[in-house]
Amino acid sequence: MHILLVEDEAKVARFIKEGLTAEGYEVEIAADGKAGEKKARSAEFDLILLDVLLPKKNGFDVLRTLRNEGMRTPVLMLTARSTTEDIVQGLDHGADDYLTKPFAFNELLARIRSLLRRQRNSHTTFRLADLQLDTLTRRATRSGVIIELTAREYSLLEYLMRNQNKLITRQQLAKEIWGFNFDPGTNIIDVYINHLRKKIDREHEPKLLHTERGKGYYISEKDLRKGPAK
Ligand code: CA
Repeated sequence: MHILLVEDEAKVARFIKEGLTAEGYEVEIAADGKAGEKKARSAEFDLILLDVLLPKKNGFDVLRTLRNEGMRTPVLMLTARSTTEDIVQGLDHGADDYLTKPFAFNELLARIRSLLRRQRNSHTTFRLADLQLDTLTRRATRSGVIIELTAREYSLLEYLMRNQNKLITRQQLAKEIWGFNFDPGTNIIDVYINHLRKKIDREHEPKLLHTERGKGYYISEKDLRKGPAK
């Protein structure tokens, strides 16, 4: 289990890292908000421990950015403050849980185990023809061959697979995958759809990712415009 710890107080970071390493977790530390955000994007972590008061970019802003980018990794906020407002703000921004400093190490361990357990329990494999998507390993395969996806492509594919055989509008994708409450009006969605289509369809039949011009996209074994398959 791979954990990212974003914490600027070196002593606290070292203490947490040593404790978690002793429990068999692999821990990487980032010492400010910007560095944490970068690390979170560059590797697949099973969990992120995110301090609120951080240099360069605070924990709430880091979390909001990452969630807007489609990152679904469980996040446990570490907050020195304990006002309800802070907690509500953290949960609003997509935190899965929070812990108020100072905390007992055993309390931290218990929260981590519970979040990882929750994550495992929500484990699903989506299937469509020979395409498989595993939400735990975040791995896609077609005919058993691994398809390398970026975090954003994964989020896009997972959303389409969850809603397979349904037309998804550009507005829905803009909101669900990019966090925009409006159609951003750029071709960013088309660009990502094209990347994804190349990866999952170029060398395979049947084609699964369909575009309905002017309306949106869907993933299906059949062309929905021709009516249900016989
Ligand atoms: Ca701090």
